[in-house]
Amino acid sequence: MRKIFAVLVISLLLPLCLRAAAPALTEAVVWAQALETVARSLSELTTQHEAELARGLAYHKFFHGNPRHKLLALTFDDGPHPRFTPRLLALLREQHVKATFFVVGEMAARHPELIKAEIADGHNVGNHTYHHVNLTKIPTAQVGTEIVACGKTLEAITGKAPHLFRPPGGDYNRGVAEAAEAAGYTTVLWSDDPGDYASPGNAVIESRMEAQASNGGVILIHDGIEQTLQVLPYFIATMRARGYTFVTVDALIADAHRPCPKKAGSPLVHHGVLSNLQPGKDPTHR
Ligand SMILES: [Zn+2]
Repeated sequence: MRKIFAVLVISLLLPLCLRAAAPALTEAVVWAQALETVARSLSELTTQHEAELARGLAYHKFFHGNPRHKLLALTFDDGPHPRFTPRLLALLREQHVKATFFVVGEMAARHPELIKAEIADGHNVGNHTYHHVNLTKIPTAQVGTEIVACGKTLEAITGKAPHLFRPPGGDYNRGVAEAAEAAGYTTVLWSDDPGDYASPGNAVIESRMEAQASNGGVILIHDGIEQTLQVLPYFIATMRARGYTFVTVDALIADAHRPCPKKAGSPLVHHGVLSNLQPGKDPTHR
């Protein structure tokens, strides 16, 4: 009788226990997959951008600046790192280069002094989510939380809410774009991706960066990659010899939206910029 009772209890409780464990397991798998980000190629990003335009979707996005001006924006993702960021900041200071950092919230919380140093040196600091997850692979309800949590962390450190956002891997969908926009961000993607994250060798990174660089370029590189750190002084010198100036993403956006006369006597027009930003709608362009 006792045996039958025990079997009855187990057979009744086991399905309930499994059902309770299932969401936790699924969630863990989802988050593990979301942590494996792969950078989207420029052609994928451009195709997505064009598909959005065809559907009349105009998010606050920015890929590159004015193709007529010899400006470049270095953007460093995935920091801050206690071993690398101070070296990178020293290098940028020595080279008189202003750059943009897309930082991970949980790392910023661990190293607030590095975020303060980035701001003190005149760089832009943008939001790269709290846990560096692929936002297209987590539940929609969590997307806003990831963006807002990183933003609040940065605001607590710097005293100012960030306004630039880059989704990890450049992977975004409608829900991500709308969540970023709702939180007051401009989503910043890139025009140049030398693939430094895989550490392919100094010569490979440098030649890719030099081959891809063009007017108004937004260059995706990473804080924490030794080869990038070694290549940077040579790349900066080469680009300066070609007449380029390095600016922050804010400066590149402001420049892209500066009206210019198309022809003498014609109304002011905006340059052909691969961006959905509208002058006046852009929080960096008041
Ligand atoms: Zn990243």
